[in-house]
Amino acid sequence: MRYQIVPVTPFSQNCTLLWCEKTMQAAIVDPGGDLPQIYAAVEAAGIDVKMVLLTHGHIDHAAASRDCADHYSVKIIGPHKDDAPLLAGLPKQAQMFGMPETQPVEPDQWLTEGDKVQVGDIELQVYHTPGHAPGHVIFFDESSRIGQMGDVLFAGSIGRTDLPGGNHQQLLDTIANKIWRLGDDVTFIPGHGPTGTLGQERATNPFVGQGAQG
Ligand SMILES: [Zn+2]
Ligand SMILES: [Zn+2]
Repeated sequence: MRYQIVPVTPFSQNCTLLWCEKTMQAAIVDPGGDLPQIYAAVEAAGIDVKMVLLTHGHIDHAAASRDCADHYSVKIIGPHKDDAPLLAGLPKQAQMFGMPETQPVEPDQWLTEGDKVQVGDIELQVYHTPGHAPGHVIFFDESSRIGQMGDVLFAGSIGRTDLPGGNHQQLLDTIANKIWRLGDDVTFIPGHGPTGTLGQERATNPFVGQGAQG
């Protein structure tokens, strides 16, 4: 699997193009805004967009998802249905963060733990990873050992849990029970900031790394 990050919105959210090198079929993960930049990146990569995927229902990840899906005549897949209230409440989120007016989003398909999403020859594994948002999911490609983690884990930090539906203990459990188990060698693409490896975070992350438990 290949990927390219396109930072979008005032929150520098990592919209990610994921694609199968063999078929050039692609998914756009979290097109939160700045669609012209996303479309230009798609064109430059020469990829064939087959779906829009959402990790969770926050505005910087989901606000432009319907326009993006319509542009390519594809479906919005994900997140878990527990994020339905957040997606229905996108207009409220826009007010809260002082962002331009936004329409509610209703995905074409919800995801749940254990689901698989096929992008060309790539099979993405879906994990339900609540804590930052109740319906948060991540997408993991076993063969390339790359995961799109949304706002669960960042290089040197973790997702905030003070927004509606956030739960700090749940996020710690998600990371301990689902994220670390993917393996130290896994490269993760976070929702914001630089990529990293799970091994590096497990060793040094001040919130959930080895030092944090001591
Ligand atoms: Zn978020
Ligand atoms: Zn975010």
